Amino acid sequence: MKGKPIVIAIDGTSASGKSTNAKRVAAALGYTYVDTGAMYRTLAWYCVQQQIDLEDVKAITATLKKWKTKLVCSDKAVYLTVDGYHPVKEIRTSATSAAVPKVAAIPAVRSWMKKVQRECVQFGNIVMEGRDIGSAIFPETDFKFYLDASLDERSRRREADGVVENLAERDKKDTQRAVSPLVISLGATLVNTSKLTPEETTAMLLEEIHAKLAKRKLPS
Ligand code: C5P
Repeated sequence: MKGKPIVIAIDGTSASGKSTNAKRVAAALGYTYVDTGAMYRTLAWYCVQQQIDLEDVKAITATLKKWKTKLVCSDKAVYLTVDGYHPVKEIRTSATSAAVPKVAAIPAVRSWMKKVQRECVQFGNIVMEGRDIGSAIFPETDFKFYLDASLDERSRRREADGVVENLAERDKKDTQRAVSPLVISLGATLVNTSKLTPEETTAMLLEEIHAKLAKRKLPS
């Protein structure tokens, strides 16, 4: 691969279509997919397993220092394992969803995640989804998207996946935390997916990405 790896940042609210579209965009371009929410979920799940008080910032920071985790890339997807285990199902429960924003608000956790997430370019061009990718993790990238949808539509989507949770509460915590809150980062293209199918959303994202990639190839 020539030059610096390309990073496509897809941020947005919970259940706005980030995962579906980030995966589809990554597959269409042949890039590696990185779900940073899953990384925070893995840490939150581990803390709950270890019966660590989620309000105890010092205990969580200490846990992070000795956490036996590894960044793995398999089949063009990146994730964290814990003691060699990949907790695919465990991190998707309502209990884990409720626990994550607490862990994700801790400054030491965010700087740990930033370091690990920036290391993901070792796997080549990436599509990375999350809440602060365009604003804090890769603010230098030219490819930034912010996905949103109405609360009704997002709740409907979660229910269709069999998950009942208070999305408004999670969004509130993610938007109001002091460190790296969910924001529409400078230069991001805003896409409201409320009335769009995944196919339509992916097509919109790909059109903009291809246009920007083509411009890069033009002689200046
Ligand atoms: O994307 P997902 O819903 O799986 O994210 C779970 C939670 O992880 C979010 O609600 C947020 O608290 C946290 N998160 C974050 N920053 C990211 C990705 C996720 O704070 N980049």
